[in-house]
Amino acid sequence: MSDFDLIIIGAGAAGSHAALEAAKAGAKILMLDEQAEAGGQVWRAKSPSIISAPKTPETIAGDKLRSDLKSNNILHIANARVWQIEKNNDDLWNIGYLNNGQLHNATCKAIIAATGAQERVIPVVGAQLPGVIGLAAATALFKQHLTIPGKQTIVAGCGPLLIFTAYEILRLGGKITAIVSLNSKTDWAKASINMMARPDLLLRGAGWLAKIAAARTPIYWQSTITEIIGDTHIDSVNISRVDANWSSVSQGRKTNIKADSLCMGHGLNPAIEATKLADATHIYTPELGGWHVKTDDFGRTDKVGLFAAGDNAGIYGAGAAPYRGKLAAIAVLQFLKLANAENTDRLVARMKSAAKFGLATTKLTVLRAGMIKNTQQTAIICRCETVSRQQLEIEISSGALSPNAIKSGTRCGMGPCGGRYCSDVVALINQTISGKTRQQIGLATHRPPLRPLPISAIAQNFDYDDLPIPAPAPL
Ligand SMILES: Cc1cc2nc3c(=O)[nH]c(=O)nc-3n(C[C@H](O)[C@H](O)[C@H](O)COP(=O)(O)OP(=O)(O)OC[C@H]3O[C@@H](n4cnc5c(N)ncnc54)[C@H](O)[C@@H]3O)c2cc1C
Repeated sequence: MSDFDLIIIGAGAAGSHAALEAAKAGAKILMLDEQAEAGGQVWRAKSPSIISAPKTPETIAGDKLRSDLKSNNILHIANARVWQIEKNNDDLWNIGYLNNGQLHNATCKAIIAATGAQERVIPVVGAQLPGVIGLAAATALFKQHLTIPGKQTIVAGCGPLLIFTAYEILRLGGKITAIVSLNSKTDWAKASINMMARPDLLLRGAGWLAKIAAARTPIYWQSTITEIIGDTHIDSVNISRVDANWSSVSQGRKTNIKADSLCMGHGLNPAIEATKLADATHIYTPELGGWHVKTDDFGRTDKVGLFAAGDNAGIYGAGAAPYRGKLAAIAVLQFLKLANAENTDRLVARMKSAAKFGLATTKLTVLRAGMIKNTQQTAIICRCETVSRQQLEIEISSGALSPNAIKSGTRCGMGPCGGRYCSDVVALINQTISGKTRQQIGLATHRPPLRPLPISAIAQNFDYDDLPIPAPAPL
């Protein structure tokens, strides 16, 4: 007998809509999320210290979602970090999670992993300096805390978050010293054709660009940050033009721009650690953000009882995520024999239509081959364990070609992030030395815990006095 019919990991746009859909058929649902409130990245809730704030389309949608969840009898445990997923002897899924400093377990017949994405940053020298944050991380600062990263900020990288981040900083009263975009104006013009699928969002983007233009913010198209300069804090950056492959063409010429903060990001990677731990098949698709769990339109994986919805099954974007959540819930209800999956063609069509916009924006962030050349030998790749590119190259050149071997040899990926933020960059470096494809390089083995756990939670009320001490052996 399981504790729940369905456990959903992640209460973002996909996970929450899956919960609402599954609740309609009376499924017994537990939804776990490590954030304090439901909404995920795109519909992130404001911190309780913000008494009032101007409404945005995201806050309106997020507030509605949180209220719908409360009125639908869905058990949502917030601040719950899922760290373990395994099948037990009764063929049920057993989920381990940390909540309020205590470890808990719950069993279920089906899981929907809706763990979203994480951002990718290709570092250069100085990227670990205080004042440098991720582009997507900056959106969490605005949305949750109405805070800006500094007084003079540079925004750099690729894709739509670049424009959104610059706009939000200006809206909240900050100053943007420069926008450094890897994408060219032509890249954007091409992407806009597919973005026509959502004219409302395209118009919103045009509004952001108008505000940026009105603030006379310099935009450096087809350019990248080559170095971040500062002793104890970012002081300035050097930038360079890039070629069509995104490789710097500065040839020693430097454009230096002063700043006290930098938001830098190069797209998103699907957050696959949960589905990897559950042993589902994963595939590599650059246009979907890289490695992602393999599913059909209904989020069915190749593991019985394991479903996936949202960006962890490919970066289709925020517009498609609610539909992907609903479709996964329909498949789960069919699996649990609580409902039939009928009349779903319209929902699938809507999901595919909504995905067009997201796919066009994800395409702007597909890394080009020259990008990794801009990362110097002394650049820190693994910030948790302070591992440089040079250390990685020595390890790879001496024969450690698999992600597991590189990890054991350098500790890269053994810190608190568990490799979530560096493994993509390590694989890019590996590719330049080994010439292998990303599919040939593969992924490191995912092991519990999926998130760092305090030793006190693991030891619980352990007391050394409780240790059974065997009687001394007779002499
Ligand atoms: C930092 C960041 C900022 C972003 N900002 C924007 C934006 O401003 N606009 C936009 O259009 N898109 C944004 N995106 C992309 C956006 O996340 C998605 O397109 C959309 O939110 C996808 O919805 P989702 O439900 O798949 O994932 P998410 O909304 O990311 O929800 C996933 C949820 O899973 C939870 N989770 C993951 N792993 C665990 C675990 N082990 N235990 C417990 N909980 C877990 C997370 O806390 C999160 O709440 C951002 C992405 C990132 C990474």
